[in-house]
Amino acid sequence: MREISCDVAVVGGGPAGATLAQRLGLLGFHVIVLEARPFPRHKPCGEFMNPASLEILEELRVLENVASLGARPIRGMKLFLHGRSAAGCYGNITDAGTRFRHGFAVRRERFDQVLLNAALSTPGVQALQPATVSRVLRGAGGEVLGVEARDAVGERVTVRSAFTIGADGVRSRVARELGVHRPTPWLDKLALVTRYEHVPWGAFAEAHFYDGGYFACAPVDGGLLSLNAVVDRRAYLEAGLTPEEFLTRRLVAVPELRERLAAGRRCDPIRGIASMAGSTTQQIFDGAALVGDAAGYVDPVTGEGIYIALRGSQLLAPVLADALRRRDRSQRSLDAYRTARRRELLPRRWSGLLLQRLLRSPMAKEAGIRILARNPGLADLAVSATGEDLPLRKLLLPSAILRAFGGRPMATAGT
Ligand SMILES: Cc1cc2nc3c(=O)[nH]c(=O)nc-3n(C[C@H](O)[C@H](O)[C@H](O)COP(=O)(O)OP(=O)(O)OC[C@H]3O[C@@H](n4cnc5c(N)ncnc54)[C@H](O)[C@@H]3O)c2cc1C
Repeated sequence: MREISCDVAVVGGGPAGATLAQRLGLLGFHVIVLEARPFPRHKPCGEFMNPASLEILEELRVLENVASLGARPIRGMKLFLHGRSAAGCYGNITDAGTRFRHGFAVRRERFDQVLLNAALSTPGVQALQPATVSRVLRGAGGEVLGVEARDAVGERVTVRSAFTIGADGVRSRVARELGVHRPTPWLDKLALVTRYEHVPWGAFAEAHFYDGGYFACAPVDGGLLSLNAVVDRRAYLEAGLTPEEFLTRRLVAVPELRERLAAGRRCDPIRGIASMAGSTTQQIFDGAALVGDAAGYVDPVTGEGIYIALRGSQLLAPVLADALRRRDRSQRSLDAYRTARRRELLPRRWSGLLLQRLLRSPMAKEAGIRILARNPGLADLAVSATGEDLPLRKLLLPSAILRAFGGRPMATAGT
């Protein structure tokens, strides 16, 4: 068994873990990222990120690298239900919002690789990959002392650290070991994820709703279209169909999308991911913290997960750095992170859950699309609220209210 030590052990090399490691490395700390899978690895995802994410990528000096992957600019979202549609654009509501008026859509395996490479080229950051964390090490008082992992050849590795960060995604081993993970049973969903080629597509991400689920689509690099079919897990299991049969049958419910897909060809296997939603009762501990999906996760309909991962790390890094400099490993030393998460990220989580509740009601869904279709300004507001860094005080600016209720004065949702 090997034993190594560092300032911070980051479990998980996805967007949350990689960007946290990069930030801490830049601040002069020794960081070890433990990532279970060799990269590039597939990650089930709708693969589009909102404009607020782009600001963070720019700050980390990786935006150019992501753009050079051929990331497709996404100007907003279109929603479809029973032949009706509504479109909302980013950047129309307030000039005080996010600097970028578009998001990006890019294959996750390539995006995540860019972020991890940026972290690993930062002095002080190294990776154990593949290395699967199986245990969180605790001291006599319950404080976290590090983790135990198995590397590629099955050898046991102990990583001792001043802080251990769970950035290990929706099924976080760290959160489970710390006993704080709680599933959200009423959101027991399953997503079937695949990609198409040669499907003509504009510059919008789209969600196609029907009674029983929805399809989310975004045009990604390489001229591909990323497609997610999200359904209740029970409905999928009860259908007793193969993923291909299930997808084909569900597409019948969205003829508009089915016709457009028929112009192209499915070019990826259909992969499934289940039981996605969960929360945590606590995100900071003596010697540890949770970030990204590991800290709590909602159904991906608004496409905010990548942003929440990036922003969570942006909030956590300076707090951790301060605690490390003061050699204070107490939970209290991370309080500022908890407060910032509550102020900024929790409202996003609650609005995501509220949206999920509404989507369960066919009447509310129908009424919602009708209202947004008739009021393009409101559609812009709804899309901007999920995609931009728009706290309530900015949305309540008179200019923002005028734009939301006065139609669409700036960019239009043409293509
Ligand atoms: C079907 C679906 C569609 C989605 N669509 C979108 C979208 O369009 N836009 C958007 O913004 N978000 C979307 N999301 C959410 C988004 O994918 C996540 O919010 C985002 O990936 C969170 O980043 P993360 O770094 O916290 O976790 P992850 O990206 O999950 O990274 C966690 C990493 O930890 C590693 N790991 C796990 N366990 C261990 C262990 N024990 N030891 C070591 N390493 C471990 C994993 O291999 C992984 O690389 C979607 C999610 C799903 C499921």
